[in-house]
Amino acid sequence: MELEEFRRHAHELVDWMADYLAKVEDHPVRAQVQPGEIAARLPDRPPAEGEPMARIFQDFERIVLPGMTHWQHPSFFAYFPANSSPPSVLAEMLTATLAAQCMLWQTSPAATEMETRVLEWLRQMIGLPEGFAGVIQDTASSATLCAILTARERATDWRGNEDGLWACEPLVLYASEQAHSSVEKAISIAGLGRKSLRLIATDDDFAMRPDLLDAAIRDDVAQGLRPAGVIATLGTTGVGAIDPLGAIAGICGEHGLHLHVDAAWAGSALLLEEQRWMIEGIERVDSFVLNPHKWLLTNFDCTAHFVRDPAALVRTLTVLPAYLQSRETGEVIDYRDWGVPLGRRFRALKLWFVIRSYGVDRLKAMLRDHIAWTAELADAIRAEPDFELTSPPKLALLSFRYRPAGIDDEEALDALNERLLDALNDGGRLYLTQNRLRDRYVIRFAIGQLYTTRDHVLRAWQAITETARGLSDTV
Ligand SMILES: *Cc1c(COP(=O)(O)O)cnc(C)c1O
Repeated sequence: MELEEFRRHAHELVDWMADYLAKVEDHPVRAQVQPGEIAARLPDRPPAEGEPMARIFQDFERIVLPGMTHWQHPSFFAYFPANSSPPSVLAEMLTATLAAQCMLWQTSPAATEMETRVLEWLRQMIGLPEGFAGVIQDTASSATLCAILTARERATDWRGNEDGLWACEPLVLYASEQAHSSVEKAISIAGLGRKSLRLIATDDDFAMRPDLLDAAIRDDVAQGLRPAGVIATLGTTGVGAIDPLGAIAGICGEHGLHLHVDAAWAGSALLLEEQRWMIEGIERVDSFVLNPHKWLLTNFDCTAHFVRDPAALVRTLTVLPAYLQSRETGEVIDYRDWGVPLGRRFRALKLWFVIRSYGVDRLKAMLRDHIAWTAELADAIRAEPDFELTSPPKLALLSFRYRPAGIDDEEALDALNERLLDALNDGGRLYLTQNRLRDRYVIRFAIGQLYTTRDHVLRAWQAITETARGLSDTV
């Protein structure tokens, strides 16, 4: 493609992008296609000859767009949000154009030095104490894997890496039964075996019970096992539960365990001073992860991973072949040593654009709005006798179920709520997802989208009550 042609198409696409965002509400939130429908419209074979951009773009609109779920739709209340924002998109355009591979300081000094600086900004913004060093990983799953590998190597005095785990005593790790599935996955990837993960029971608020954690550790020690680390969650994916970090940190200190904090979603709320109670005990934490790509307006992927002792992380992950050495090796940060992949995108740029463009105050105002609307929605749910709030508002997440008078059978209620969710999502006006809580089917409601207003939340609640009451007529 000639550069003049590129210039013309780029202008057209930017116009399309602005129009799309202005009219994103015209689309159904969740894609309304059946499995295989998009694949059937894509040619079996690649074109032998190049095609004009106009044709390619036409097919993007005709084939691709109907198969997209619109995550930037203001009535997206499913999962957790995957944020974006205009300044973040602009930075991504520059990142794609520079197309640098930022594995070493030398391969783009600005990318490395900006990553260090912008994560230092973020550290201050969320109130982590000085002494935490940051790195941007692709996902929280990767950060948690790195933390578990570091815990493993610390516990085996780096013999796991050298001799393999068969040369080491059996290790065990701990997380709450509400912890994210990425913990279990990381433990299996780390070669520790899923059975070495102890899932600690939770209290009425779905937070880890520290007394049971302590008992489990003592039990494992008594059996000759070697406790290696704990993963605490701030804001569990199911209900937003906050594990009691202060008590957990105390136990980790007493037993000498590595402590990793998964705050993938809720970590952004630490911008707000009134939410900092969540990190009581942070002085004893070894690593901490939060996803600006969830609730801080930065495009996926952008995971902030803070570590107390970068040397331990680097020692766990480094290998230095001759072809990756540079004049500055050892004097500068080479982030390739801080994560699993060698290659790295320039991810700091979009976070820098977002923080500068909005400023900390505007980001805080957004978070406070989302939290306030969630509390307001909870009150609306409590006020309806045929609905039940199944978990209280935690930051910007709650869950509920429809429970009309006359249906007491739990399985019938599960089925009814599943029908309600399908009806809502098939309608396309909003998008919600489910969870199982103490073995019951519940519907999650997560607020966190840049374009969401209080009105969207109120309209969503109206759609939910109307749809639910329409359903029960046919039961
Ligand atoms: C979303 C989430 C994750 C996984 O995030 P990825 O960045 O997609 O790996 C991990 N933990 C919690 C608590 C989450 O909410």
